[in-house]
Amino acid sequence: MESKAHILVFPFPAQGHINPILQFSKRLASKGLKITLITTTSISHSLHLQTPAGGAALQFESISDGLDGGDHSDNIHTHLDRFIATVSQNLAQLAVKLRPNAVVYDAIMPWCLDVARGLGLRAAAFFTQMCGVSMVYYHQYEGNLKVDGENCRFSMPAMPVMEIGDLPSLIPDGHLYPAFLRLMVDQFSNFREADWRLLNTFDKLEEEVLNWMASQWPIKTVGPTVPSMYLDKQLEDDKDYGVNLFQPSAEVCMKWLDTKEKASVVYASFGSLATVGESQMEELAWGLKNSDKNFLWIVRASEESKLPRNFISETSEKGLVVNWCPQLQVLSHHAVGCFMTHCGWNSTLEALSLGVPMVAMPVWTDQTTNAKYIVDVWHTGVRVKVNERGIITREETELRIKEVMEGERGNELRRNAVRWKELAKEAVRKGGSSDKNIEEFVAELVCT
Ligand code: UDP
Repeated sequence: MESKAHILVFPFPAQGHINPILQFSKRLASKGLKITLITTTSISHSLHLQTPAGGAALQFESISDGLDGGDHSDNIHTHLDRFIATVSQNLAQLAVKLRPNAVVYDAIMPWCLDVARGLGLRAAAFFTQMCGVSMVYYHQYEGNLKVDGENCRFSMPAMPVMEIGDLPSLIPDGHLYPAFLRLMVDQFSNFREADWRLLNTFDKLEEEVLNWMASQWPIKTVGPTVPSMYLDKQLEDDKDYGVNLFQPSAEVCMKWLDTKEKASVVYASFGSLATVGESQMEELAWGLKNSDKNFLWIVRASEESKLPRNFISETSEKGLVVNWCPQLQVLSHHAVGCFMTHCGWNSTLEALSLGVPMVAMPVWTDQTTNAKYIVDVWHTGVRVKVNERGIITREETELRIKEVMEGERGNELRRNAVRWKELAKEAVRKGGSSDKNIEEFVAELVCT
């Protein structure tokens, strides 16, 4: 479909928000829309843009978020308020200049809807997290999170009963991170008024909760936002490019993986934000080594000093530690047999879509709920146990890696993972549930 409709797309400036919204933008561009993706100046210095041969189909624009002056004296609430005020103003100015037809904004910035409305533009809220997680925050916003006091279990429509450790950690720990909790819960302050609600999931993956949501408001599933060339090798037209906030060691990782046997490598990564203490890092390190498997471990530069002394030299035969990698390429490599993950939603969805079983090591926010689903709903992984000192020991780490990579249990998890991969592929292929929803969205944008 040829169209001149121009859409401004605005993800929250964090890796886990940029990735899905950028990949979604590429799908829109492939269906004939002109897309301008907006980033903010405080992250623009660390952007590593990979562009496809022949140039990017997307245009990029950067606006100031008022946080680039390096003033860290304010508390997080003041930062957030300044971010909202500055970005609202600059987004409006950019929209006046570019005259788009509509805006797609990250649902955790609900005030973008006011900016769009102020300019008479239609707007779509894009939810980057799992719908199960969205619904926990929604029920919290509505004051409907029902606690069974005796057992401390939580029941929500169309969702598994959760224990406190399965809820997004910001709910029980909200007093520690009130600004983050506000960010998450406020997604539901005006979402009904948006023209569209786009969800980074697919119908079969979250069938029950999606049916419940659809009975309340119109929604469109558009995921998984994994470039479809990874799901289906035939789809060469869907180029892999994106934006990294860290420089990936692509060649080193891929060459190293090429030397390893099928399903022999544990890929371990905790995403772009999660941090662990020094003693926890030490336990993870020796757990990986003691598992006696090959491992590729992503330790961001800011975390490197926590690695045990001599660890890298002592494990160099079986292990590779780098600061960042091309995760999709890594997860699609035949040598990877297990993903030890912090269960960020993108990592979880990428592993499900690429058929890789997981060792779930949630750290905070929505990761705990994603882990609950990985183990109890999708059956593609095991969750580590935290001991009474709040540590995942090396023995526990080793045990869980072996559980996923060896024996009948490992085979069963892998079979389940492969089933999800097939269903993910079905959702994004031409005429699949997510593809149809994207077509519909584009048609609605173009027609009115
Ligand atoms: N990622 C990557 N290389 C790495 C680690 C992560 O490209 O070495 C990507 C990963 O594919 C995912 C994103 O970074 O798309 C992390 O998002 P996620 O929601 O999993 O976690 P967050 O960083 O938001 O905690």
